[in-house]
Order: sequence, then C-alpha cells, then structure tokens
Amino acid sequence: MDTHVIVRFHEAALKGKNRPMFIRQLAQNLRRATMGTGVTRVWLGHLFVALRLSEGVDWPLVRERVSQCFGVAKYYRAWQVPPDLDNVRSLLSGQLEHRTFDTFRITANRADKRFPKTSLDINIELGAYVEALTGAAVNLSNPDLEIFVDVIGKSILVYFDEMKAYGGLPLGVSGQTMTLLSGGIDSPVAAWHMMKRGSPTHLIHFHSYPLVDSSSIEKAEELAMHLSRYQYDSTLILAPFAEVQKRIIVSTPKSYRVVLYRRFMVRIAEELARRHGAIALVTGESLAQVSSQTMENIAAIDEAGQMPILRPLIGFNKNEIIDVARDIGTFDVSILPDQDCCSLFVPAHPVIHGDVKVVHRLEAELPVRELVNSAVEEVKIRRFSFPTPS
Ligand code: ATP
Ligand code: MG
Repeated sequence: MDTHVIVRFHEAALKGKNRPMFIRQLAQNLRRATMGTGVTRVWLGHLFVALRLSEGVDWPLVRERVSQCFGVAKYYRAWQVPPDLDNVRSLLSGQLEHRTFDTFRITANRADKRFPKTSLDINIELGAYVEALTGAAVNLSNPDLEIFVDVIGKSILVYFDEMKAYGGLPLGVSGQTMTLLSGGIDSPVAAWHMMKRGSPTHLIHFHSYPLVDSSSIEKAEELAMHLSRYQYDSTLILAPFAEVQKRIIVSTPKSYRVVLYRRFMVRIAEELARRHGAIALVTGESLAQVSSQTMENIAAIDEAGQMPILRPLIGFNKNEIIDVARDIGTFDVSILPDQDCCSLFVPAHPVIHGDVKVVHRLEAELPVRELVNSAVEEVKIRRFSFPTPS
C-alpha cells in the first residue's frame, strides 16, 4: 500500500492571491528537504501538499526533515487506497484497533466530484462504521480523533495522526537579509527566526584572527552548517575585524568601544548585504540584556547604517532564547569556548547611555571609509548546503 505524508500550512498566512506562489515554494522546499530520504514525488493537493513515500522510506528521517521545513504547520502519515469505501473500512479496522478514543469525527473531502458519494454521505457512512467498530461517539466540534478522508481521483487518502511543526512561511517568500552571527547563543536564534518568516538570511561573522585564535571562526562555520538545515543554502562571510579594533583602541575611550565596534560591523555588513542581494540586517540583540543593548546604544548603533536593522529577539528573555537554541540544535555549539573579537579590549562597564554626538566626535578621528572598504575587500566566503549529497 502506498503511503504519503500530508502537509498542512497555516491557511490564514497563505491567503489571497499570493497563495499559489507560497504553496509552490513550500513544495519546492519540501522536495529539497527530503532529498535522499525515499520521497518519490511531491504534489499539490487542495489545501495540502503531499509527499509520496517509497517502500524503503527512511520514515524517521522524513519526519525530521518535514518538521524542520518552515511553512509546515502540521503533517500526517497517510495511506492511499483504491477509491471505494470498503477499502477505507478495512484500513480503518486495522489502524484503529489498538487506539483508545472516546470521540471522533470523519472529515471527508471530495476533490474528485466523479466519486459517486458526497462528502456528507462519506462522513455519515464511515461515522456509523467507526462507531460500531470502536464504541466511540461522534463529536464534530471537539473530537479526540479526527479522521481525514480525501477522495483525490483514482484513490482515497486516509490519515489522522497529527504531528506539529513550526509553521511560519516557506523559505524564499520574504526578501533576503544578512544576520550578524557572533558564535554566541542569541544570533543563531535570530537568524532562525528570520528563516521562519520566509527570509533566506546570509550570515556574516567578524573575527580578529590572528589577534586571537580561530575558534570563533570554527564556531561560526559549525553554526552556519547547522542552520542550513532550515534554509538549505547558507553563505557565511568571514570578515576581518582586527584592523578596525586596533584603530579604535588607540584613539577612543574604553567605554565607547563596544558601540563603535558595532557601528563598524553595521557599516561593513551593510556594504556586503548590498552585494549579496540582502535588504536588511539582523542581530541577536534583546533589549537591555547587556549594557551594550540599551535603547540608547541600539539607537546609536542604528544611526551608523541606512538599512533596516531587525532584532527578532528584542522582547525575549534569555531563558526563552536558550529554549529555542536547544530546540533548534544550535545551543551546544554556541556554548563552546571561543575567543570572540568583541571581548578584546573592552571594559567591564561600557557606556550605558551612548551619546551619538560623542560617537560622531570619536569617529571623526578615524579613517572610517578606509577601514570599512578594506574589511569588505578582504572577506572570505564559505558556502554550506543541506542536505549534503550522499
Ligand atoms: P550573541 O549571543 O548573539 O553573541 P550577545 O548577547 O553576546 O549575543 P553581544 O555580544 O552584545 O550580545 O552582540 C550583540 C549582537 O551583535 C549579536 O547578537 C550579533 O548579532 C552581533 N555580533 C556581536 N559580535 C559579533 C561578531 N563577532 N560577528 C558578527 N556579529 C556579531
Ligand atoms: Mg556575544
């Protein structure tokens, strides 16, 4: 018997005239995500996307890949039988045997109007059958088990075990962004939230190698590779930051260094974002989590650039960010020790209410354009793909 995965999306998010485009993108992403797992075909149904599974399918792998695909709200394993209700009855008698539920409903959908029975007929006939089989009662508004029966032409799909996924929007339906990826806990989570809303996000990591060792670069690479599970293709830009830091250190007071570092990061990232087709920057900042992330400092950082700077974690508590980091699998990499460029030469108590006027005065002493241009010219680019060809 053929089995399928039936994928449902949040219809509200996919309403209107963009829906066909969104669903095509979702199907394309599911094809990519399930490469090499035993999915033989991905096709579009009425309000669902279906994946046909081969005999030797690696089901746990399919489940993992589908549940990590944005735009999937929930999914089901489905059985495909010839278009006759007797086949559905015999399937249900086997599948429902070991289940306990007090209430259920049948939700039939007749996409193929040549089928001689209406959806209502199917609901009534199969409802009576399941009642007699299990002793459970029909409850249309809040059933323990919902049994879907979709008549789709030459066959019927039957499914009921609901599995939840992240929802969100199919990757690729929103414009591209560039995330400043530090190697810490927060920024990979920020990048993930952008992908969840459909935005492919390039990653840029600033490092002070060879002033420090290459551990932060290795972490950024590891994180970029891991995040590719959610966006399939990732570009990681490794940007040298040692020169910028050296210049800042010799001419500015300690307390302003972090704000100045961030403003240079914004300028460099913005230039590279333009070159890579991204139209906004993303950081992992959350309001007042540390002293460099006060409202005043955030404003002073924004003022250095022209692109929108998105901060998907602005209202998150640290423990909430950690929960997501664990769930998406970045936490263990993020907590590995590293020599981060920003811990270099910064005081224990940086300025809390950074003043833009002071910032401008300090930057007037620095060759800003020159430093930005040379960092931009000296970046190295790494690309990661998922799934990796076997
Ligand atoms: P994270 O956990 O993401 O490192 P954090 O709480 O340590 O964040 P900061 O170190 O103040 O906060 O960094 C704030 C944001 O600035 C980061 O989330 C990241 O987006 C960006 N950032 C900091 N350092 C770097 C870096 N070396 N390369 C790229 N982006 C960085
Ligand atoms: Mg950090």
